[in-house]
Amino acid sequence: MPIVTQLSSDQINRYKRHLILPEVGMDGQTKLLNSKVLCIGAGGLGCPISLYLAAAGVGTIGLADVDVVSPSNLQRQVLFGISSIGEDKVKAAARRLKDLNPDVKIVEHKTVVNSENVLDLIRDYDVIIDGTDNFPTRYCVNDACVILKKPNVYGSIFRFEGMITVFAPHLPNPHREGERGPCYRCMYPEPPDPGSVPSCAEGGVVGVLPGIIGTLQANETIKLLLGLGTPAIGKLTTFASKDFEFRTFKLRRDPNCPVCGDHPTITKPIDYEEFCGVPILDPASLAETEAEVKRAKEPAKSQAGGTGLDEKGLPPGYRFDPNFEISPREVKAMLDRGEKFNFIDCRLPNEYQITHIDGTTLIPVQEIGQRIGELRGKENERFVVHCKSGARSMTFTKTLKQQGFKDIRSMAGGIMLWNKDINPGGPQY
Ligand SMILES: [Zn+2]
Repeated sequence: MPIVTQLSSDQINRYKRHLILPEVGMDGQTKLLNSKVLCIGAGGLGCPISLYLAAAGVGTIGLADVDVVSPSNLQRQVLFGISSIGEDKVKAAARRLKDLNPDVKIVEHKTVVNSENVLDLIRDYDVIIDGTDNFPTRYCVNDACVILKKPNVYGSIFRFEGMITVFAPHLPNPHREGERGPCYRCMYPEPPDPGSVPSCAEGGVVGVLPGIIGTLQANETIKLLLGLGTPAIGKLTTFASKDFEFRTFKLRRDPNCPVCGDHPTITKPIDYEEFCGVPILDPASLAETEAEVKRAKEPAKSQAGGTGLDEKGLPPGYRFDPNFEISPREVKAMLDRGEKFNFIDCRLPNEYQITHIDGTTLIPVQEIGQRIGELRGKENERFVVHCKSGARSMTFTKTLKQQGFKDIRSMAGGIMLWNKDINPGGPQY
């Protein structure tokens, strides 16, 4: 982008609400037009962030995301619409943002962010925004930002709660005199145990929440670019939407932090998938996106077969354990033969409402302790348990086996596989 020194009359008109603010003015607007911001993730947070930054006239906006748009994104990812389903998010986003403001250059980085590319990716940007949804990328972005001295505007969301702060160990902490700001590792020195923190795909998220947190991130970004006000360095704000509660916590830099501390041991990016014990891209969510896009694009075709299952009706490579499991096809055959057995759905009531199999009894796995009495006396009867995709029903099965139930099996693949193979077109969630 050529350096902007003067605004055209069209630009003066477009940005006049900024220009009239003494804190922004012509100098500030020119600064924004010459600024470069990288938003990592074009999802729930990345959408409002990039929309507001483009509208504000931030001259170069990089977007890094490897995903394509799927129908379940539209509940919160406000850059996209029906017409962008199946398209690369960065491409669909660029089109919308260019339409919003042709002054802005959108740089499309269709890639995962990892230790190999992160330094080159962020090097030329002034401010980095973390709008990702996974721990390996967060640690990766954090370390690279510390190493290259870039402010990292961090946000995260889950269910009804979100948080935001700015990590910048190279800048003063305005809330602690004489100290510098903390980094993500100062707040979370260790990643959570793999599988202990559910993702938004597993736990859900209220659609407006990324709009709230993302716009706060955009606001912090504009402040940093303009040197305006007091940045959220050393200050973490959480928002609990159900209670309308904002809370603020002071964060301090840890002098022993391995990346921003006084004697750093991490001086270049490491293997973050190994460090966190989880992959950057969750294979299950990739498969879900692919299936969603396929259903949206060719509903008739995807329902008329081509499910990609093996001869037993299981996903290829599925490690079926006949001691504990039964396939949906075998369960269907039992039902068709009129066999008597206890069919338990161990999900939560809200999941049952989304989709269920007729004739099942709902006993959430969480309630197994209180409700086992209902099953006493049936230790010699046959049981089949299912959940969404097979993990909770396996827990249920193993627990009941320990309690003396002899003939109990978990339905492999859960109701998601049932709705693919036995009840094709049934809801996937
Ligand atoms: Zn640190």
